[in-house]
Amino acid sequence: MKVPARGVTKQGGGFENLEIERRDLQPKDVLIEIKYAGICHSDIHTVKSEWGEVDFPLVPGHEIAGIVHEVGSDVTKYKKDDRVGVGCMVDSCQECHNCKADEEQFCEKWMTGTYGSTDKYGEKTQGGYSKFIVVQEDFVLSIPDNIPLDVAAPLLCAGITTYSPLHHWNAGPGKKVAILGMGGLGHMAVKIASAMGAEVTVLSHSDDKKEDSLKFGAKEHVNTKNEEVFNKYKSHFDLIINTVGAKLDINQYLALLDVNGTLVNLGAPSEPLEVGVFSLIGGRRSFAGSLIGGIKETQEMLDFCAKHDIGPEIEVISADAKNIDDAYERVINSDVRYRFVIDIDTLK
Ligand code: NAP
Ligand code: ZN
Repeated sequence: MKVPARGVTKQGGGFENLEIERRDLQPKDVLIEIKYAGICHSDIHTVKSEWGEVDFPLVPGHEIAGIVHEVGSDVTKYKKDDRVGVGCMVDSCQECHNCKADEEQFCEKWMTGTYGSTDKYGEKTQGGYSKFIVVQEDFVLSIPDNIPLDVAAPLLCAGITTYSPLHHWNAGPGKKVAILGMGGLGHMAVKIASAMGAEVTVLSHSDDKKEDSLKFGAKEHVNTKNEEVFNKYKSHFDLIINTVGAKLDINQYLALLDVNGTLVNLGAPSEPLEVGVFSLIGGRRSFAGSLIGGIKETQEMLDFCAKHDIGPEIEVISADAKNIDDAYERVINSDVRYRFVIDIDTLK
């Protein structure tokens, strides 16, 4: 079927109105009418070719919430009108060691990204800034009734990407957790870590978001422009979650970890971060990374957010191509509180 979409057709270009093709339903496929799509900074890195060459045209969007429109003959998990979501993956081999361990994001063979990947049919995948999407049912998530669809969309990337490391590194009562950068991912990390019972500190590059940090559950908001804080919080945290997508002096932040502490990098700048080994050796510290989360854990995260009544702060915009261009500029300038979500009903 032909589907209207918003995408970029050339290097350095802005958004345009496009028409893309979605495959016919295979027995295990779900056809989803997309209602909302979040704008993740990864969409921006990708479109701007910051992570390497892009095969244009590209329709981004991996924070998708919508309604089931039709299901294939062998689909058992979903039916028409169910409220569903899709995140950063639409398929994987489902047979390798990591897939079997519910970590499809680390599939050893062919995890298929929601956009910019080639799927098992040899077709290029296109993302959620579009009216419909076809996804294998095992990669479709169920959205709990008490989470509105526009609020649910960013959970499919910002939510799971922060929930997974917080869960893995045991954020909870008695743990001092710092969230570095409070944007789309960061503000979800603050809310989730607080709901897990950790003592949360926001490390932000200004004082502008202080009131919000405290409202989202943080105990403190620290402005890292003030060099003194690097003395004050030396060897203080058990866990630091770095959501900044720009290059930072990572050694300055490693020094804020207590003995055995871990700094998990979620932000993905194109330039390497230089880690001085003495930053690690001195306190048996770890420098780690984490990539989204598996499907099972994504469902767990959605249910956790529903139970604790937490979700992203969103600014809904229409699907006008110029609006999307403007939203990208505002994300780059850290001028969004805290996630843009495109209202796909306005995409004609
Ligand atoms: P975002 O909304 O732009 O938030 C990033 C935040 O980082 C900003 O709000 C700002 O917070 C801080 N920041 C930005 N520029 C900075 C600078 N030059 N120096 C210091 N701090 C700066 O982005 P996002 O959507 O949350 O994504 C963040 C990063 O995570 C991106 O690189 C994205 O690609 C990556 N990501 C990774 C995964 C994964 O699986 N690992 C998944 C999704 C996204 P303050 O104003 O509070 O300082
Ligand atoms: Zn994302």
